[in-house]
Amino acid sequence: MKLSPLNSVSFNQRQPNIDANIDRPAQEPGSSLLQVHGLTKSFGRVPALVDVNLNVQAGEKVVLLGASGSGKSTLLRCLNWLEVPDAGTVAIEGEYLGRVPQSNGQWRTDSPAELAIKRQQIGMVFQSFNLFAHLRALDNVAIGPRKVLKRPPAACRDLAHYLLDRVHLSHHADKYPWQLSGGEQQRVAIARALAMNPKLMLFDEPTSALDPCLTHDVMQVIQELAEEGMTMLVVTHEVRFAHQAADTVLFMEQGQLIERNTPTNFFHRPQTDAAQRFLSYVL
Ligand code: ADP
Ligand code: MG
Repeated sequence: MKLSPLNSVSFNQRQPNIDANIDRPAQEPGSSLLQVHGLTKSFGRVPALVDVNLNVQAGEKVVLLGASGSGKSTLLRCLNWLEVPDAGTVAIEGEYLGRVPQSNGQWRTDSPAELAIKRQQIGMVFQSFNLFAHLRALDNVAIGPRKVLKRPPAACRDLAHYLLDRVHLSHHADKYPWQLSGGEQQRVAIARALAMNPKLMLFDEPTSALDPCLTHDVMQVIQELAEEGMTMLVVTHEVRFAHQAADTVLFMEQGQLIERNTPTNFFHRPQTDAAQRFLSYVL
């Protein structure tokens, strides 16, 4: 499917000129960022993913929908090899992640160190916030660039302040996770993921644990990122977000991606019976 022209201002371009961000050029909007071929995964006899093919363009905002158990989380987890697929490939801008084809037709598995470096390109935000309980918000954000990217402490602090401001939490920089609401913790988690300067953000039901008011604040931040050109794949039940922010809706059933559509068409004229049934429950 041809996508509409995308916002040309990338989130990366807006960040201050801080060490942690100097080495990743903004992607060309519309170029292919994520390439997934034949992704297949079973848990015992349960087929969680069945031959999933997916292409996400730089700047594209994709919302992934599907009933519980349809394979959404497994797909997201396979994209950064948190879950190792039984078959298939994942590549970021053509660079394979996890399993790399060789010129002799064989496959090579990335070492943990190689995988760790490639994974930095993908930020992930889960339903549970998973912040470090013993670190203040600022340090939760700064720790990745500091420990993993080995950036100077002052630059990491500047970056963390900038990102906490971006998620509207600058006044909470010195608080510990237990002093923050669930929505605030989730926004710190988003800032923490952004601190690694990812090319792609994956959100797996980021607001499922939150009440409606806190949900709004978190989805607002994700929508702002979307408007600034961040490429993202979002599993969410927030239909309004899908309408307002998504370029593409993907629908999964029993481990298969069975529909790819624009939000307007998906919600008003779904192509598949399964999507129609799903919508009759959620709308
Ligand atoms: P969704 O996120 O759409 O709710 P999941 O990807 O979590 O779906 O699950 C897809 C299927 O795979 C389900 O049948 C689920 O029970 C199964 N599954 C997922 N993770 C595991 C696991 N770690 N062990 C066993 N079965 C799993
Ligand atoms: Mg899930």
